Amino acid sequence: MSAWKSFVGPVLNNPDLTVTTGALVHKVVLENGRAVGIEFSRGDSEVQRAFADHEVILCGGALGSPKTLMLSGIGPSDHLSAIGVDTVLDLPGVGENLHDHLLLSNIYESLEPLAAGTNNLLEAQLYARSTGWVGAAPDLQPLFMHIPYPADGYPVPENGYTIAPGIVAPRSRGTLRLASSDPSELPLADPNILADPYDLEAMVDAVEICREIGASDAFAPWRKAEVVPGPSARTRDDLRAYVRQTAGTYHHQVGTCKMGAELDANSVVGADLRVRGVDGLRVADASVMPTVPSGNTNAPSIMVGERASDLILGT
Ligand SMILES: Cc1cc2nc3c(=O)[nH]c(=O)nc-3n(C[C@H](O)[C@H](O)[C@H](O)COP(=O)(O)OP(=O)(O)OC[C@H]3O[C@@H](n4cnc5c(N)ncnc54)[C@H](O)[C@@H]3O)c2cc1C
Repeated sequence: MSAWKSFVGPVLNNPDLTVTTGALVHKVVLENGRAVGIEFSRGDSEVQRAFADHEVILCGGALGSPKTLMLSGIGPSDHLSAIGVDTVLDLPGVGENLHDHLLLSNIYESLEPLAAGTNNLLEAQLYARSTGWVGAAPDLQPLFMHIPYPADGYPVPENGYTIAPGIVAPRSRGTLRLASSDPSELPLADPNILADPYDLEAMVDAVEICREIGASDAFAPWRKAEVVPGPSARTRDDLRAYVRQTAGTYHHQVGTCKMGAELDANSVVGADLRVRGVDGLRVADASVMPTVPSGNTNAPSIMVGERASDLILGT
């Protein structure tokens, strides 16, 4: 199943719907403080405009929506002027608060090839708490993969499996900025991971939990040897170095157009998903999540979309 099959497929023949694929949105067209449409192009085509009778909804994701807002002149004015975009609205929170779950690999060589999973390669997950965690929900999410999930700079066994340490309540925050005023250029994402010492220690806790599971008797029929981080990693300091070298994205970026109260100077949208200070413009995607949920982000993103449809319809 996919969001496309669930939500768009069934209404694809509705005459009220036009789907344009392969298009790059350049910016929102603004007139007198109101969003009235978008500019876009397809391939090398001329820039075209599409106009909205009611409102414009951006859903370019945590990396795409802040980019479009900034190209439209909505964002931190110092950054916009530095790259030659005229500021229409100084909204300092656009592109701030970038964060993600973090993942790395604790890889084992297996005695024999592993059977494929029943449905996918990732059928078991564990929620756990790090030593310093005081929140209500767990902050660690180690998961099991039926394959070696390669770690930067480490060997990959031919037959193996991974118990992947992950943290789901990171405290570090990064930024998303424009590389230039050219819409075809990718934005600059600085995830700034492990900037907060808590994240590093929580990640080391997660590695220790995964190693304990990996060394357990239950895995004895499968385990040949731990390959990553391997037997030379013994102390917490060794593990800190290993985390710094290999921690990477879990592909769950959120937060760059965060929802918040009007008093919060860094909020970009309100509870109705409307962009502060602009009429006729909403954002509906993972970028509005102020804090990443402790579960995976696909279903919550779909929930944002469903809530957006209720808000738009006024139901
Ligand atoms: C490799 C990978 C694996 C993942 N695995 C899981 C998983 O197992 N479980 C889970 O829950 N989540 C998973 N996720 C995360 C999940 O896919 C996202 O959280 C979710 O799709 C976010 O939805 P969204 O609507 O915010 O953005 P997206 O789904 O990213 O949609 C944004 C869309 O806008 C388009 N776009 C952006 N800018 C422009 C522009 N200027 N012009 C035109 N189009 C534009 C993009 O191409 C994209 O199609 C994974 C993500 C990745 C990348």
